[in-house]
Amino acid sequence: MKCPFCGATDNKVVDSRESETGEAIRRRRQCLSCGKRFTTYERIEAPPLFVVKKDGRREEFSHQKLLGGLLVASKKRELSPSQLEAIVDDIENVLRGRNASEVPSLEVGEMVMERLRELDEIAYVRFASVYRSFKDVKDMRATIEDVLAHPPGTRPEPPRRPRKRRDAEGRELSLDLGK
Ligand SMILES: [Zn+2]
Repeated sequence: MKCPFCGATDNKVVDSRESETGEAIRRRRQCLSCGKRFTTYERIEAPPLFVVKKDGRREEFSHQKLLGGLLVASKKRELSPSQLEAIVDDIENVLRGRNASEVPSLEVGEMVMERLRELDEIAYVRFASVYRSFKDVKDMRATIEDVLAHPPGTRPEPPRRPRKRRDAEGRELSLDLGK
């Protein structure tokens, strides 16, 4: 397994565990040459996962590429590489757990932003500027103002679709109509 940072082939496994969905073994490896860490997945003939870009082009999902984008967005911020790695791991686990063969790039971007926003506002806005391709300064300002209005940790949970409806008196109505 070639180190993605320096190309050396000698590395050691520093951590090994099953992914959330139990379909893959995730291994953290450390390069014996440069000391950097990277992740490999062992899985049973998993179908490749493609990211579909806005213009319709498909590109295989790349853990390293997504991590690279996060590293750029968080340059000179106080985010550790392991925090960024955890974001990418989490997203990859969610996506692969779905067993879908493709995912729109915009959705991947939104998943990153959702997680980045909780950790670092500046990195979030930088990442958003790339993923949302702000049309102009106004567009960017709207995103920044939204961050200022809803600092990390204060945003409400996204509304869940209620399973039951209530009638005029507030009684729960069962939606189980089929039987
Ligand atoms: Zn290396």
